[in-house]
Amino acid sequence: MVNAKHLNSTDKNNVTEMSTKNQNEVRIGLEVHVQLTSLKTKLFCGCSSDYKGKDPNSLVCPVCLGIPGALPVLNANSVDYAVMVALALNSKVSECMFFFRKNYYYPDMPKNFQISQYDQAGGVPLAVGGFLVIDVGTKRKKVRIGRVHLEEDPGRLVHQGAIDTSPYTLVDYNRSGIALLEIVTEPDLDSPKEARIFLQKLRSILEHLGIFAGRLEGSIRCDANISLTGGTRVEVKNISSFKEVERALSFEIMRQKNLVKKGLSVKHETRHWDESRRVTISLRMKEKEHDYRYFPEPDLVPITITEDFVENVKEKMPELPEARISRFVDAYGLPQYDAEVLVSDKALADFFECTVKLYDKPKEVSNWMMGDLLRNLNENNLVLTDCKITPEHLVEMIKLIEEGVISGKIGKRVLPEMVLTGKQPSLIIKEKGLVKISSRDALEGIVEQVFSEHPSCVEDALADENAVHFLVGQLMRATKGKADPQLANQLIHEKLESLKK
Ligand SMILES: [Zn+2]
Repeated sequence: MVNAKHLNSTDKNNVTEMSTKNQNEVRIGLEVHVQLTSLKTKLFCGCSSDYKGKDPNSLVCPVCLGIPGALPVLNANSVDYAVMVALALNSKVSECMFFFRKNYYYPDMPKNFQISQYDQAGGVPLAVGGFLVIDVGTKRKKVRIGRVHLEEDPGRLVHQGAIDTSPYTLVDYNRSGIALLEIVTEPDLDSPKEARIFLQKLRSILEHLGIFAGRLEGSIRCDANISLTGGTRVEVKNISSFKEVERALSFEIMRQKNLVKKGLSVKHETRHWDESRRVTISLRMKEKEHDYRYFPEPDLVPITITEDFVENVKEKMPELPEARISRFVDAYGLPQYDAEVLVSDKALADFFECTVKLYDKPKEVSNWMMGDLLRNLNENNLVLTDCKITPEHLVEMIKLIEEGVISGKIGKRVLPEMVLTGKQPSLIIKEKGLVKISSRDALEGIVEQVFSEHPSCVEDALADENAVHFLVGQLMRATKGKADPQLANQLIHEKLESLKK
């Protein structure tokens, strides 16, 4: 980023040019909240953290309801998890950290403060600094991390329809007190696409660390700070899924650019992403930090994180995505691109490794997964963990093709059935009558039929080898793709030769 003040002040033309250009430059910083759902209990009490789908307000106690006098006790494993994430993000783990009270009134937080961490006024968050390298097209980009800290999740507010028109608000405190890890980036992202890539990479890391179930709704949420260069920062809250991140950011950038075009100013405010209407709406003017009256949480002692503790966590760290990608390239001979796509989703990478254990042709497995499997998942809006296909079944299907029982083309019809029904490929083939036709007798009659139905094409084929494909295509069509392609080709040629005589 070129800042106008760094340019030669006598070169006015240049400055103008830069500032006009810079007005359209976008800066995005993310505040990502990750629920540590692999912890069995909440951050400061013994209530179960497995709250999804449970009756509202059924997993609560005086601590997470914020009853005066109830005392919090820190979940020790949460520090392990948080340190793991900090190390994976190259952050510096603090030797001693404190919890702070962030004071504000909101119905999802009955005690009127959130136990969080702070990096000012003597506050020390769990970790500071660090970076994550992302691949954007062919370039690699370092996105700086500001800090990583622990805090409690507030309760969940449920609105009827949109937040600004709902006649009432319901509150469910089951989520209140769930351990949250907040990861704050510097405003290093230049586009909604980069934000999505960053979040995908972060999710893959968190999944590999085994600290959360990334596919559960709301387990990774994000707020974004967006500004056009030199302009006011706007915070957009309530972005609940990765699909929404790109949409929400694109909308907000467009909104700000339109304001600037009309000569209006962008207000410093907090906006809410309305998923159904796909717009951001103004919630409130942005609070200032001092509005929160941060002060040290008197009910929790400072936590010392010793070098030994960090070393211990380091030793327990599982393989991270970057290392796994390299291993996929080295051990399985996969192209870098294949490895990156597979590892971007831990479930996909695990599925690949299970399949390769059963069938030792990694590139072939990867081709089926990256091509047909992923396409089918996308078309049906599914993720791998939602569907019933197993490594055993995929191997069986590849072997059926290898043994000549079905053609590769038929395989492409069998796979979607496997994804949706979880049925064994041999059963699907039997039920749908998809076994390859490789007997001469069965095909010869169909060849006759194709020749009599397309006399002019036969003429063309006799004169031009290129026109033969059409006849083969017709034969495949007549057999619904079940004809053995090699034999089909051979029979068509034989028939043409006999006509030439
Ligand atoms: Zn509780």
